Amino acid sequence: MTARIIDGRAIAQAFRAEFAQRVQRLRAAGVVPDLAVVIVGDNAASKVYVRNKSLACQQAGMHSSVHALSPSTTQAELITFVHDLNRNRSIHGILVQLPLPPQIDARAVVEAIDPRKDVDGFHYYNVGALVVGEPAFYPCTPWGIMMMLEREGVPVDGARAVVVGRSNIVGKPMALMLINAGATVTVCHSRTRDLEKITREADILVAAVGKPNMITGAMVKPGAVVVDVGINRLPDGTLAGDVDFESVKEVASRITPVPGGVGPMTIAMLLGNTVASAERAAGMGRAVNG
Ligand code: NDP
Repeated sequence: MTARIIDGRAIAQAFRAEFAQRVQRLRAAGVVPDLAVVIVGDNAASKVYVRNKSLACQQAGMHSSVHALSPSTTQAELITFVHDLNRNRSIHGILVQLPLPPQIDARAVVEAIDPRKDVDGFHYYNVGALVVGEPAFYPCTPWGIMMMLEREGVPVDGARAVVVGRSNIVGKPMALMLINAGATVTVCHSRTRDLEKITREADILVAAVGKPNMITGAMVKPGAVVVDVGINRLPDGTLAGDVDFESVKEVASRITPVPGGVGPMTIAMLLGNTVASAERAAGMGRAVNG
């Protein structure tokens, strides 16, 4: 079997076109969705992410402002800055790009964001809403994967799903979303014994580890849908996922590539969350995810 390659770019583009239409409806009502992105310091990768997010907003007809703060910014200064954005009624989404410099407690900063503007879905309020399966801002990467599975017509209800990775931004929320959608979910991590035995049980296998090519064809059940979240820069400058694409594509029924799989969906969902926030603020009545 050779797997069908899931075209994350095309699916993300379709979502972005839908969001752009919703932006036009908001603009017609005098509201321009606005995402404020805050970056502290000189992390090169963060700068690229921030630029891409901001550009994507503009392409959808939204406003996006990037606030680049000095690497020596204190936690108190950053929290004051976030509070100002909370109060600014023309701002609908606030994203503080992680990682933050060591003098700043990232959790304290995330908790300072108004949960109604927390378009990353990292605030405890939104995390709690996801746990109980209520509408909220959900973290963009796993939510993008759920939307991708839905658009691909992959049955989740009743499926056996395995998530490799238990981070707060990908693995854990991914597991919760799959549970809420009716999957039977196992979460694996660095302490998991006999990983291969567990991954081979998965109808849907999500790899969010950060180790290039670690999921091989021998670890995949024939016909499984394999989602590769990993973005790993190799010494030769190329990108690799966490999934060994060449061996897994011979076993899986569908597979996401890196690049061009999960990554574009992450940005699309950020736009979707910001548009939903603007609609809610404008009383245009749309519930956020869930
Ligand atoms: P983290 O480093 O926070 O988490 C990695 C997880 O993998 C941990 O839970 C860790 O276990 C687990 N792990 C590490 N080694 C093994 C192993 N040998 N076997 C099983 N599990 C293991 O990473 P993130 O979740 O933030 O990101 C994961 C990957 O996804 C990265 O490559 C990142 O760049 C990428 N990413 C891509 C995004 C996109 O838009 N496409 C967005 C966000 C991330 P333990 O908890 O025990 O340490």
